[in-house]
Amino acid sequence: MKLYLIPTPIGNLEDITLRALRVLKEVDMVFCEDTRTTGNLLRHYGIEQKCYPYHIHNEHQTLEKTIAMIKSVGSVALTSDAGTPAISDPGFLLVRECLKEGIEVECLPGATALIPALVNSGLPCDSFYFHGFLPHKKGKESTLKKLAEMDCTVMFYESPYRLLKTLEMMMEPFGSDRRLSVARELTKIHEENFRGTISEAIQYFSQKTVKGEIVVVVENGERREENNS
Ligand code: SAM
Repeated sequence: MKLYLIPTPIGNLEDITLRALRVLKEVDMVFCEDTRTTGNLLRHYGIEQKCYPYHIHNEHQTLEKTIAMIKSVGSVALTSDAGTPAISDPGFLLVRECLKEGIEVECLPGATALIPALVNSGLPCDSFYFHGFLPHKKGKESTLKKLAEMDCTVMFYESPYRLLKTLEMMMEPFGSDRRLSVARELTKIHEENFRGTISEAIQYFSQKTVKGEIVVVVENGERREENNS
């Protein structure tokens, strides 16, 4: 019995490994965050598979049934809409339950938005903290305050609708001249990596309608002081 977690492209359809394609072909069934999205990917690569929904809205309720299905068929794969399952996506609960039930788990290496955003940023990659999505309302201010004090590069996922407000809220805890990078639409036609200070980012993004998918990468506060001294 085995559960494979299969990273899928975050934009460019070529960003899937040969092993991911082979495993998707060989497993007994595929659990998908969205059966249409994974269905399109499988069709693109000429893979015929049985797809079953496994998403955030049914993750808790279907856990028992999903485990029973894995036990009855043998090997299954889990995909999310884009990137690595369980990274700000459904998957963690299933991994934990599989391990409890003695089912082997293997996450294939592959596409995710956070690593290319980090490396493209030009900020130190030796030590970083990834927060996932920030809270939308309650707790956002205190979370940003905590992130501002971390002694490593800090990263989070953000929606284009909230980016500007978040940058404005970052001004006080991080300071207007803290360097950051905003990675947008990675691997897609309109990919953009904005690099500058927080105040430059506010100026830049307030002049346009912000669209697409976004990762924010922020310089470490302590190193910044070292660099400036
Ligand atoms: N599991 C995915 C991963 O491994 O990166 C993350 C899924 S999470 C629901 C979606 C968020 O990831 C987006 O809101 C955005 O913050 C980030 N993201 C996904 N694709 C991206 C891309 N092509 N460019 C920039 N950010 C992306």
